[in-house]
Amino acid sequence: MREFTHMEATTIEEASKNARKGNAMVIAGGTDLLGTLKDEILPVYPSVIIDLKTIKDLDKIEEEKDQIIIGALAKLADVADSQVARTNCQALAEACGKVASPTIRNMATLGGNICQMHRCWYFRTPDDRFHCGRKGGNTCPAYNGDNRYHSIFGQQNGCVAASSHDTAPALIALGAVIVTSSRAVLAEEFFAANGFRSCVLEDGEIVTHIRVPKSKKSVFEKFALRKSIDFPIVNCAAAYGADGTVRVAMGGVFPAPLRIKAAEAAVAGGITESTAKKAGDDAVADCTPLSGTAYKVEIARTMVKRTLLRLEGER
Ligand SMILES: Cc1cc2nc3c(=O)[nH]c(=O)nc-3n(C[C@H](O)[C@H](O)[C@H](O)COP(=O)(O)OP(=O)(O)OC[C@H]3O[C@@H](n4cnc5c(N)ncnc54)[C@H](O)[C@@H]3O)c2cc1C
Repeated sequence: MREFTHMEATTIEEASKNARKGNAMVIAGGTDLLGTLKDEILPVYPSVIIDLKTIKDLDKIEEEKDQIIIGALAKLADVADSQVARTNCQALAEACGKVASPTIRNMATLGGNICQMHRCWYFRTPDDRFHCGRKGGNTCPAYNGDNRYHSIFGQQNGCVAASSHDTAPALIALGAVIVTSSRAVLAEEFFAANGFRSCVLEDGEIVTHIRVPKSKKSVFEKFALRKSIDFPIVNCAAAYGADGTVRVAMGGVFPAPLRIKAAEAAVAGGITESTAKKAGDDAVADCTPLSGTAYKVEIARTMVKRTLLRLEGER
């Protein structure tokens, strides 16, 4: 690890202003960022790390009329255990409870989870050994390389990594809004392969809180190789909106988590064994797997069906 200046921010404005200056990055729980610093994966090493944990009241989980407001600094373990979250946005509480391990969930924050960098092993190889398109290079080594954990829906901005945020499909299915220091963005428009980032944030922009509309029922499912601690191969969430329609989102299948409108259309008339199966089939109808990801198509198909049947079964 190289030397950097550690700054304890006291306000969002202070953090945002300093994060815009030159070569600075913000840190929350540090469970993702510290690994990237130790491995020196980024071509330019940050000289200033701005700590958000010293800003007061960014970790609240509160009910406000028909929404739940969750501060960016809320720990995943606290969201998973929160009665307010479990009652009103169950899919998000379930997703938070399935990230990594108890130790990580007690340090990691919701804001950090949605802003984590991609887990592509070429992007993450220490010392920027694969200078891929995401870091200013002009190739994607995964496209022709070992891509068994990558996209089944093609590339985004030249990248075929798979989104790895467990909370993202839940936030998209629930119709959440991500509020930053300068704007409010729908969760389904927040995630993207954007330089080294996995979301649309710009330099100096900081997630302050997330507004999650209440849902009378929502569920989250995750398929990973290990149950104890592992990133998703595919994850999926489904939620009833206030108008009674079903929203479905999937992660691990594209550089950004995707809202699956074809699956939503298949269950528009109600969720049954056969409409849930059709939703799974329709969800993957247009996918274009890479040389190593054909097996993920079946997993994605099954995850959509399983998530919808669970949503209906628990209603
Ligand atoms: C062993 C291991 C297993 C893991 N397993 C999973 C898993 O199963 N599922 C999963 O989803 N993730 C997993 N992760 C990834 C990661 O640890 C978590 O996603 C975690 O939620 C990141 O949160 P954090 O607060 O620690 O973020 P940090 O490490 O502090 O930050 C992560 C990134 O987000 C930026 N950032 C943080 N907060 C903000 C904010 N408020 N505004 C703007 N930018 C911000 C930082 O600059 C940094 O780039 C795992 C990590 C490890 C090390």
